[in-house]
Amino acid sequence: MRIAIIGAGAAGCFCAAQLRKWRPEWAVTVFEAGPKPLAKVAITGGGRCNLTNDFQGIRSLAEAYPRGERVMKRALKAFSQEDTIAWFQARGVPCVLQADHCWFPRSQDAMDIVHALLNAMKGVDLRLKSPVVSVEGPEVCSASANNIADATAEHTSGPWLVNGEAFDAVVVTTGGAARGLPFLEGLGLEMVPPVPSLFTFTVPDPGLRSLMGLVVEAAIGLQGTAFKAEGPLLITDWGLSGPAALKLSSYAARHLAESGYKGNLSINWLNANENEVRALLQKSALDNPQKLVSSTHLLQARLWSHLLAKAGLRPDLRWAELGSKGLNRLTATLIGDSYPLTGKSKFRDEFVTAGGVALSNIDPSTLECKRYPGLYFAGEVLDIDAITGGFNLQAAWSTGYVCARSICSREIGKN
Ligand SMILES: Cc1cc2nc3c(=O)[nH]c(=O)nc-3n(C[C@H](O)[C@H](O)[C@H](O)COP(=O)(O)OP(=O)(O)OC[C@H]3O[C@@H](n4cnc5c(N)ncnc54)[C@H](O)[C@@H]3O)c2cc1C
Repeated sequence: MRIAIIGAGAAGCFCAAQLRKWRPEWAVTVFEAGPKPLAKVAITGGGRCNLTNDFQGIRSLAEAYPRGERVMKRALKAFSQEDTIAWFQARGVPCVLQADHCWFPRSQDAMDIVHALLNAMKGVDLRLKSPVVSVEGPEVCSASANNIADATAEHTSGPWLVNGEAFDAVVVTTGGAARGLPFLEGLGLEMVPPVPSLFTFTVPDPGLRSLMGLVVEAAIGLQGTAFKAEGPLLITDWGLSGPAALKLSSYAARHLAESGYKGNLSINWLNANENEVRALLQKSALDNPQKLVSSTHLLQARLWSHLLAKAGLRPDLRWAELGSKGLNRLTATLIGDSYPLTGKSKFRDEFVTAGGVALSNIDPSTLECKRYPGLYFAGEVLDIDAITGGFNLQAAWSTGYVCARSICSREIGKN
């Protein structure tokens, strides 16, 4: 058996390592366009590599995977986050779990993950600086593109040609398909247009920016839509970042791309509902009637002063003087503070691509192309992406594993 893997990233290398483990006698070739394998893994998590998540901080899989949740449910059954930790620990990389549910190598060094994968790939023909420019399936030359049934029958018998070289199966793991997949264009696969995900928000509000450095446990949403996210929100010198903002950028990735990254953000600073906030303020007024509202902060002092000013309340106002109008204005500001969004910025250098090869093209259990048997997809090239926290790499490990397992169980051309 000759297997071609296109892309020596997380998914491609993991798939190659599994194939090596299960079928050491097979010839596995990994084509990598760049000069180094696993170049992106080496810089993940700021060089520390957040390799997976314990999935305890999310309520549903869709919360972690806004796109690809159903395929990921199956892939995680085949190879879970616990399997990831066991896999790397068994290969000499002790891992630690942080309080925020993220797993890292104990050494805090992403190169340990890189080396473990490369060790597990010994015997694989890893070809660097070898971009794949053409992939031809048997049907391209011999079957009618309109007759899928005929085409399928023909595919199973002939080899795939990758840069003109013959292989029995091909795994495409070329990562975020921002530039498309020109070498697959002839196959007529359905593609979901790629858009960036995981970015921070540019908010040109001097009052907000003056609070730079504050982190608040809040909820943030896009006005006029149902998109919202909660968690720590970081105020920066350009706008808003932190897990809550990044999550929102992921959930609303396509909507924001279509609206040119313009809109209005709504922040619920206490992440509480109107009745809860009203009750909190009323209690404060009852407990401290003669105190200044500005000196009894329910949030960090700088933010509290900013919000009182936005609610139009005097700095020398006492709780006894708040009245129902003041209470209404302060409640409205605390639960629905609004800021214009004028653009997006990078979160460190981390980003993922939403979109890519449409999941309708593939069998979700095997990740094999329905129309072209012998052609598989894994990792970010698929229309699967996640919020931050190790979920994206977990998708690469799990889908890479499923492809290897499917190829082994199929054993195309075993004779
Ligand atoms: C800076 C940064 C930090 C990140 N940190 C984290 C993190 O800590 N945790 C987490 O879960 N996720 C993180 N991510 C996301 C995560 O790295 C990706 O989701 C993951 O690497 C995707 O793996 P992949 O194998 O699908 O693609 P990639 O890792 O991008 O690999 C694809 C490979 O294919 C090669 N290639 C492309 N086209 C061709 C071609 N035609 N021929 C041959 N080779 C080709 C590319 O050169 C590349 O090496 C981070 C992303 C970035 C950018």
